[in-house]
Amino acid sequence: NERTYIMIKPDGVQRGLIGKIITRFEERGFKLIALKLVTATEAHLEKHYADLAGKPFFPGLIKYMASGPVIATVWEGLDAVKTGRVMLGATNPLASPIGSIRGDYALAVGRNIIHGSDSVENAEKEIALWFPEGTAQ
Ligand code: ATP
Ligand code: MG
Repeated sequence: NERTYIMIKPDGVQRGLIGKIITRFEERGFKLIALKLVTATEAHLEKHYADLAGKPFFPGLIKYMASGPVIATVWEGLDAVKTGRVMLGATNPLASPIGSIRGDYALAVGRNIIHGSDSVENAEKEIALWFPEGTAQ
């Protein structure tokens, strides 16, 4: 019953890809544990991406992520963290295989439409950060 944090970024929401992305996780067999539409503050996003503070693209990343609402979700299932990352594709959409979410819907690394936790430890941290109220299940 591993859990992962998956977030549709502002460009994914704005482009109308919520349904398609949610459907992929449902059809793969993952169980939806929590979901909400939220516009994050820059301070909140700086916590989410704290490991990247200092990267040259960090300020742009925070502005991009704060530019509109995101869909915050938690999914549960076998190897959810690793499988979720495979479903996303690579960080750079151009290096992502066709059939992955970024490979099918994105072109630019700075507009790659979706986030997925990269380890079980980070998934737990991210779920606590985005759902401080707790999850329904
Ligand atoms: P995410 O954490 O969003 O799921 P990731 O784990 O594939 O993505 P990270 O290295 O954690 O990749 O980078 C976080 C995000 O920062 C990327 O998804 C992308 O939006 C942005 N990013 C990473 N590298 C660059 C870059 N070279 N130029 C612009 N933006 C970048
Ligand atoms: Mg990451």
